[in-house]
Amino acid sequence: MTIDDAPRDGLRGGPRELLRLVASGAAVSRADLARLSGLSPSTVSQRVEALISEGLLQETGAGKSRGGRRPRQLAVPTGGALIGAIDLGAHHARLGTLDLTGRVVEARTRPVRIEDGPEAVLGALLDEVAALAPAATVPGQRGGTAGSGLRGIGIGIPGPVQYDTGRIVSPSRMPGWNGFDVREFCARRADVPVVVDNDANLMALGEHRAVHADLDHAVYVKAGTGIGAGVISGGRLHRGAQGSAGDISHCRVVADPGPLCSCGNTGCLEAVASGAALVAALCEQGVPVEDLTGVMRLIDDGDRHATALARRAGRSIGEILAVVVNFFNPQVVAIGGRLAECEPLLASMRATLYERCLPLATQALLIERVVTGPDVGIMGAAHLVVDRVVDPA
Ligand SMILES: [Zn+2]
Repeated sequence: MTIDDAPRDGLRGGPRELLRLVASGAAVSRADLARLSGLSPSTVSQRVEALISEGLLQETGAGKSRGGRRPRQLAVPTGGALIGAIDLGAHHARLGTLDLTGRVVEARTRPVRIEDGPEAVLGALLDEVAALAPAATVPGQRGGTAGSGLRGIGIGIPGPVQYDTGRIVSPSRMPGWNGFDVREFCARRADVPVVVDNDANLMALGEHRAVHADLDHAVYVKAGTGIGAGVISGGRLHRGAQGSAGDISHCRVVADPGPLCSCGNTGCLEAVASGAALVAALCEQGVPVEDLTGVMRLIDDGDRHATALARRAGRSIGEILAVVVNFFNPQVVAIGGRLAECEPLLASMRATLYERCLPLATQALLIERVVTGPDVGIMGAAHLVVDRVVDPA
């Protein structure tokens, strides 16, 4: 099994689910796993053996006897086997280590200067992730650096990523990053398997697994400095042919000549409704504001220019999402990122969705905020790595 295998993201019956059942305490034996997963005892045994040989499960002591030989208990090894994760943003990165079930062990936020270029930015963040991983060797571990407990690293990029190659393709606001092979650079530097995806997909996966793992169809919008979305279809992250599925940033919302977008077109969602667009529009109106934090402060203070722009942004996001919802018929649409904290934006997005969608598409549709918090991206990154390293499907 290598990192390039493309196993299912889904949960049902796979080794990933077995691991989760043990980690949550729901199962302590092979018999529990067979009962809870619905798999045959022989399939469970086979998968458990594979997980043990990978160092992802271990047998500890003896369980309760039911008359015969006391069964050995299964457990997820603590210490040693960790996932590193980096969720890169326009101005900050969230980074940390997580255990194999996606629980955060350590996490921190670091300021970054994207314009310093990929080698400098990623190099520093990788060093910090490596420093968080305890020096440990895991029995049966493959691919890890000697002395490092890392099993793999997941990285989110605030721009389009060609998923198969881990390359960045034509990002906005990331000068010097176009065409950069993030996966190759990071895997060579850290000497562990590396998975790279765009930040919206990581947010989608993190939130979906934490909050809506029981639902099959969902759209998660990340609205911060930029704007993007991740799509869950049939319980799996849907990336499309190249990895660009869900990228709504350059969908057109304004028919007349609107603001010029970084892509060269006019009226793109990103040029109208992203955090960067709100900053630019306020500056143009003579309102001195430096960044998204400043915009949010103005909205909280009831500034009418900022509030009107936030409402317009919400309508624009709603217009594009209405097309997505009519086309894709999700069970939930959730909005995350800094702009999700903006009440006027959320309200007008919701109103536009109800106005523009088929009644059948909205009658049971959940429209909500992403609730998982600042670690949602690194949690998604960890799931991505574990899915690829653990699941030998
Ligand atoms: Zn554009």
